[in-house]
Amino acid sequence: MSDERVFEGLAVSAGIAIGSAFVLDGARTQVAEIALDAAVVPDEITRFNGAVGKALRQLRRVKAKATTLPGAAAEEMNILLDAHMAMLSGSRLIRGVEKRIASDKINAEAALQREMDHLAQSFAAMADSYLASRVEDIREAGRRVLRNLHEGEAETLANLPEDSVLIAEDISPADTAQINPQMVQGLVAELGGRDGHSAIMARALDLPAVMGVTGLRHHCRAGDAVIVDGSEGKIVINPTAATLQKYRRARDRFKKDREALKSLRKLPAITSDGADITLMANLELPREVDRALEAGAQGVGLLRTEFLFMNRKTLPDEEEQFEAMRGIVQAMDGKPVTIRTLDLGGEKLSSAVDAGESANPALGLRAIRLCLRQPKLFETQLAAILRAAHFGPVRILVPMISSMEEIKQVRERLVAVHKRLQRRGDKIPDELPPLGVMIEVPGAALSADALAQVSDFFSIGSNDLTQYTLAIDRADEQVADLYNPLHPAVLRLIQFTTEAALRARIPISLCGEMAADPKLSALLIGLGIRELSMAPSRLPEVKRTIRGLSLLEATTYAGRVMSQSSEAVIREMINEAAQ
Ligand code: PEP
Ligand code: MG
Repeated sequence: MSDERVFEGLAVSAGIAIGSAFVLDGARTQVAEIALDAAVVPDEITRFNGAVGKALRQLRRVKAKATTLPGAAAEEMNILLDAHMAMLSGSRLIRGVEKRIASDKINAEAALQREMDHLAQSFAAMADSYLASRVEDIREAGRRVLRNLHEGEAETLANLPEDSVLIAEDISPADTAQINPQMVQGLVAELGGRDGHSAIMARALDLPAVMGVTGLRHHCRAGDAVIVDGSEGKIVINPTAATLQKYRRARDRFKKDREALKSLRKLPAITSDGADITLMANLELPREVDRALEAGAQGVGLLRTEFLFMNRKTLPDEEEQFEAMRGIVQAMDGKPVTIRTLDLGGEKLSSAVDAGESANPALGLRAIRLCLRQPKLFETQLAAILRAAHFGPVRILVPMISSMEEIKQVRERLVAVHKRLQRRGDKIPDELPPLGVMIEVPGAALSADALAQVSDFFSIGSNDLTQYTLAIDRADEQVADLYNPLHPAVLRLIQFTTEAALRARIPISLCGEMAADPKLSALLIGLGIRELSMAPSRLPEVKRTIRGLSLLEATTYAGRVMSQSSEAVIREMINEAAQ
């Protein structure tokens, strides 16, 4: 009898991957022991408690998700998760670790490892089968905390075996940044939404990915043959020979289509009636620059600088940031590079930056709010950007702006840093680079007229704009069906923002995931947007679509779409037009 099993999830990155399962369970073999000074012991205990708090939040999320499992499986999972949560709430394990950090003066990781070993030994000595089975719960809960202390699975993920398909509970953007796409064929996660940053990263690396696949890790073992259908959102474990053959053919077809699109590289993105559209690349990691050029990008429309701050405990200095940016600016060889200032917060965290604890991280001290509160952090980055601007055209883009005052403060700081670098004798442009605003907060979209007076350009961040307009976490698979950039409210904010930019005669682009969907090209162009920025792999298909459009027809079509008030009707109109 065949062992084949099929699971469904969210299709987040197109393509077919065939490989063997690498199931991430957070186990680590080595924990280094570090002696601490008495003075840093309280900080170490705080760090440990932070990792425990994070583990509890993760477990609550997994638990909420587990309710969707069928009958007995949900119950079984609940019991297990409750046990893990109990292990982490004021338990003997937690108290024991705190005590060890204080008395043995060692790092949290080592204290946790020692306490786990100690508890395991004393439970085993009781020769009680129930208690013996708790040992595994202690270890699993402890490993989760260890993983949080380590911040991601960096070392493991950088060295995955060839042809592996990574299967994890959750993949953070920092984890994804470590993946070597030459070795990894595809990604699967039990948690995560379609436009979360990990999904965006998977598309950036051009890895087929499916997310929100409940309970998958309990149904497959390391080394199982696995197929990831990132276009349809399907996972097949232990496929039969016939299934394997079907997917091999689909994979070859997908690759062939991609190859065919390469012929478009040098052709302009121009509509049939002569309107020029600028297609730019979004970069998450410097190594994508070559792909952007290969795809024929006319510049970088969004450089997410968070990569410089991930998987590390210390801040990158001005020199390091400058070198990374200069490399990208030079590689783009005279094409504009839009560098976005640090957008940390929400799901994008870094242990190098203390953003404090927030009950509501998506609404908390993040992005530009954090940068304005930490002037040194911000000014170091501005200095690096200004120095990189000596090597080619650079634009500065500021995330999460919600008011005119914020952008004015940013400009003041930029002017001050510019003067300081001039005094220092650095090579920087005489003029300040254009300073633009991400329109991704509904309040910013509604104040677009005022913001346009103090901005040199706009870039619409449709991912966050959708999240905040509809109050739906973009990275939460439980509400993924409600996350809809085609909701009339989101479209109206995009229209309002675009018209404000056109009135003020400042350039406007869109760099959220909507830009990468060829089905939406006619609508966005019809609304007046002439610049789109997207993952390099998406660019050729969008270009092909644009070359088949007429601006006149797109404008009429956008007018018809905008007169609708039902999401379902809009979706239908979009699908029909794409036929
Ligand atoms: C957006 O919000 O649409 C955007 C482009 O920024 P990010 O996805 O990095 O939040
Ligand atoms: Mg955003």
